[in-house]
Amino acid sequence: MSISMNLDGRIAVVTGASSGIGAATAEHLASLGARVALVARRADRLDDLAARIADGGGRALVLAADVTDAAALREAAGRVRSEWGPAGLLFNNAGVMLPAPVEQLAADQWRHQIDLNVTGLMNAVEAFLPQLVESAAANGVADLVNTSSILAQNVLPGFAVYSATKAYVTHLSRHLRAELGGKDVRVSAIEPGIVGTELQDHVTDQGVRAWLEGSREVMEWLTPQDVAATVGFLASLPPRVNLQQVTIMPTRQAS
Ligand code: NDP
Repeated sequence: MSISMNLDGRIAVVTGASSGIGAATAEHLASLGARVALVARRADRLDDLAARIADGGGRALVLAADVTDAAALREAAGRVRSEWGPAGLLFNNAGVMLPAPVEQLAADQWRHQIDLNVTGLMNAVEAFLPQLVESAAANGVADLVNTSSILAQNVLPGFAVYSATKAYVTHLSRHLRAELGGKDVRVSAIEPGIVGTELQDHVTDQGVRAWLEGSREVMEWLTPQDVAATVGFLASLPPRVNLQQVTIMPTRQAS
C-alpha cells in the first residue's frame, strides 16, 4: 500500500479547533491541502488560526459556534455547503474532561461533560452527516473521525463520567462505521493517552491535578501535533482502508 499524504480538494470541518488537538489538526490538514472549516466558541482564536493557515497558503473558514447548540451547528453546516460544497471530512473533536471522585456529586460537571462530549458530538453528526454521504458519493470516500480517549477502555477512579462519555464515542463510532461503510464513509475513533493541551487546565479536582503533574515528571506527554499527524494519516489512506480505532499513547504511559 502506498500512501500519498495529499488532501487536495478535500473539505474538512474541525470542531474544538481553537486549541490543543483540534487547532493542530486543522493546521495539519490545511498543510496537506484540505480546506478547513474551524468550529469552536472563541472566535478570536479561530481568526488567529485562520490567519496562520492563510499565511501558509491554505484556506480556512471561521465558524464560531457552540457545539451544544444544534441549530448553530446546522447553520455552520449550511455555511460550509454554500461557501465550499459538502464537507468530506469531519474531525469531531470538541470535548472536556472534568474528573473528580463520584461522591463529590459534582453534577454540574457531569452534565457539562455529557452535554459536550456526547450531545455536542451528536449535534455535529446531525449537521454534517448528509454532507459526508454526499461527498463520499461524489468523491469515492469521506471521513468521520471522532476523538475518544484511552479512557474509553480503561478504568481510573475519579474519571467515571468522562470515561463513560468516551466509551460512548468509541462504541458509537463502531456502529456508525458498520452503517456507513456501504456508502464509502469511513468512521474512526482516535483514543489518545495524555496529550499536553488546555484540557488539563480545566481540571478543578486537586487530587487529579497533582496526579497529572506527577505524570508529567515521569513521562513525555504526547503533543497535539502527534494526534494531528494521525488524523492526516487516516484521511490519506486509500478509500478501501478504514482504521476503525487508533490508540495513541505516550511511550512511557502504561495505561
Ligand atoms: P482543549 O481544551 O485544548 O480543546 C478543547 C476544544 O474544544 C477547544 O477548542 C474548545 O474551544 C472546544 N470546545 C469546548 N467546549 C465547546 C463548545 N461548547 N462548543 C464548541 N467547542 C467547544 O483540549 P484537547 O485538545 O486535549 O481536547 C480535544 C479532544 O481530545 C477532547 O474531546 C478530549 O476529550 C480529547 N482527548 C484529550 C486528551 C488529552 O490528554 N489532552 C486525551 C484523550 C482525549 P472553545 O473553548 O473556544 O469553545
